[in-house]
Amino acid sequence: MPPELLLAIEALQTLPGMGRRSAMRIAFDFIRKGVNPTKNFCNALTALVEHVCACEHCGAYKTQGQPCSFCDNPKRETKSLCIVENPSDIFAVENTGEFRGLYHVLGGVLSPLDGMGPEELKIPQLKARAQELQIEEVIVAANPSVEGNATGHYIAEMLKPLGIKVTRIATGLALGQALDYAETQAISQSLRLRVTL
Ligand SMILES: [Zn+2]
Repeated sequence: MPPELLLAIEALQTLPGMGRRSAMRIAFDFIRKGVNPTKNFCNALTALVEHVCACEHCGAYKTQGQPCSFCDNPKRETKSLCIVENPSDIFAVENTGEFRGLYHVLGGVLSPLDGMGPEELKIPQLKARAQELQIEEVIVAANPSVEGNATGHYIAEMLKPLGIKVTRIATGLALGQALDYAETQAISQSLRLRVTL
């Protein structure tokens, strides 16, 4: 095998869920497609990592130097805050069309065994932001897991004394199911049936 082909296959195999057979198939496909389509593909990925960053306020993905489509959007309702683990979860919630408020990306969930405490997540920032924005309801849409539920309760204990209502999305989602892979309809239902913590 030419060393360039071997390197390309190894690079492709670093992608999530990509086995060696699929990586080989894609590498052969690029050879067939030729230089220009392959360069376009590489340029798109380079632009992605060079220009897309997390909003410094909410953590949603945005283009560097551009306004955030949530924080800087006057059409968003500013009294409710939806808490998610990862920026990709925002797209899952947005697809439901059920939520018109603002977001806050935690960057994970509380997991003492993995060394993930409140300070490792954007929890102190959440408290400051909820107060600053005078948020009335915080919806915890962390993935349905033991850690996600514990994180919800932690946030409720932190924000309830400030007079903020804290709700958790209903368990329409299977325990352990990641939000960004769940069916839009299931997420929609779990948002509508959310429970107060
Ligand atoms: Zn933002």
